[in-house]
Amino acid sequence: MKFKDLEQYILKRQALNAALTLFSWDQDTEAPEESVEQTTTYAGILSHELFEVITDKKVKQLLLELESQNLSLEQKTIIKKWLKDIEKFEKIPVQKYQSHQELLMKAQRIWQKAKKENDYELFLPYLKQIVEEEKEFAKYRRNNEHYLYDVLLDDYEPGFQSQQLDQFFNMLKKEIIPLLQKIQNSTHIIDKTYNERYYDIDKQKTFNHWIAEYVGFDFNKGLMKESVHPFTTNFHNKDVRITTHYYPHNLESALFSTIHESGHALYEMNIADHITMTPIGVGASMGFHESQSRFYENIIGRSPLFWKPIYSKLQRTFEPLLDDVTFQHFIDGINKVQTNLIRTEADELTYSLHIMVRYEIEKKMFEEDIDYHQLPTLWNKLYKEYLGVTPSFDSEGILQDIHWAGGAFGYFPSYAIGSAIGAQIYAYMKKTTDIEEWILNGDFKKIKNYLRDNFHQYGAIYNTNELLQKVTGEPFNPQYYIDYLKEKYTQIYHLSH
Ligand code: ZN
Repeated sequence: MKFKDLEQYILKRQALNAALTLFSWDQDTEAPEESVEQTTTYAGILSHELFEVITDKKVKQLLLELESQNLSLEQKTIIKKWLKDIEKFEKIPVQKYQSHQELLMKAQRIWQKAKKENDYELFLPYLKQIVEEEKEFAKYRRNNEHYLYDVLLDDYEPGFQSQQLDQFFNMLKKEIIPLLQKIQNSTHIIDKTYNERYYDIDKQKTFNHWIAEYVGFDFNKGLMKESVHPFTTNFHNKDVRITTHYYPHNLESALFSTIHESGHALYEMNIADHITMTPIGVGASMGFHESQSRFYENIIGRSPLFWKPIYSKLQRTFEPLLDDVTFQHFIDGINKVQTNLIRTEADELTYSLHIMVRYEIEKKMFEEDIDYHQLPTLWNKLYKEYLGVTPSFDSEGILQDIHWAGGAFGYFPSYAIGSAIGAQIYAYMKKTTDIEEWILNGDFKKIKNYLRDNFHQYGAIYNTNELLQKVTGEPFNPQYYIDYLKEKYTQIYHLSH
């Protein structure tokens, strides 16, 4: 048996996966409204085919035989990943898996209704049942994880356990909440009303297209469309697609989501040719992917260095709307801290606090015997404690995200981990490269090459801790993120140290 024998199955798996991704891209961007039901039938068939390839007995035999052979690191990682995928399916009884999928479909419809009607009790029995079944599955899949919740975390952030996350969130609690309170009590008021003026959509399109290219998005290997919620998707490293959403009375929304998605896209475009069309031709983890988008969006995109050479271009494009907004006013505006109830509208500083609320509740659901009727109260209490705001309705409280209705537990922490990884990489780059000069000179090719050579090219060959260790000499360390936030916001809000 040779690795070559596995290659036809790898390609088939990738092709089916790409076809499914293409359908889903199409549904979110161009497909006509009435196409959903029938197209879903096609997608269902492809999805079944994909399952058959992944769990094919011949493939498993081949993988097991190859496992002990002398192979390259890439080949070994592909085999390991594939066997892990098989194990996941094998350990859960098929019947239970299927009925769980049906439960999730139904729960998402009920969640939509519950959110619309502000009726948590309607969603409660579904949430409870989903968690019970997810717990059962985690028990089947458990290897040596101490907590059940750790089994789920591993799906999104391999190598991370709740012990490490507890430390991370405790640091945020200790350092960021007092910082936020200082800002809330600060006399430095930032005016941001300029952002709500009328910004012509066509002009926004031209500028956003330009800025994507400016930060390095390659339109020969990618394209940009519009969708309700911005996202990135790809089929391999030479076809990477992003979307954005334009609002006439919100200049920033499209601008920063374009930079954010460009960050995701650059990651995918930079994955090495020899692994792009394999199961490890993806980001190292959810969190690592998010670190790249936030690196471009927040660390670079909201810095004065970034706007120094291009702010006048923005002013000219929307003349005369920004004529009375000075450079410093604009920088303050794009970094204004606005505590609110909705995670997706959160600013850079408070974003992780929104995640902390969800993390704590998820852990309770998985590790304690809790009363589900009490969850909205707990949610509101934590929001008050961490962010200083209280939801008036469950729709803007516990019912705001779709994740739990879709069975995605252990997913939320990835967002916060991503922000922290981004800050860690930036601190290291400041020490060892001329990153600040590169940003100021608009020299994005250098940034792209650096990230490609050190992180992106490897896809999922290494996990987050391994990658950070390999490049920066230490594993995940959230201290850089805390330092970054403290330094940045102390300056913006003129706080004393
Ligand atoms: Zn993202």
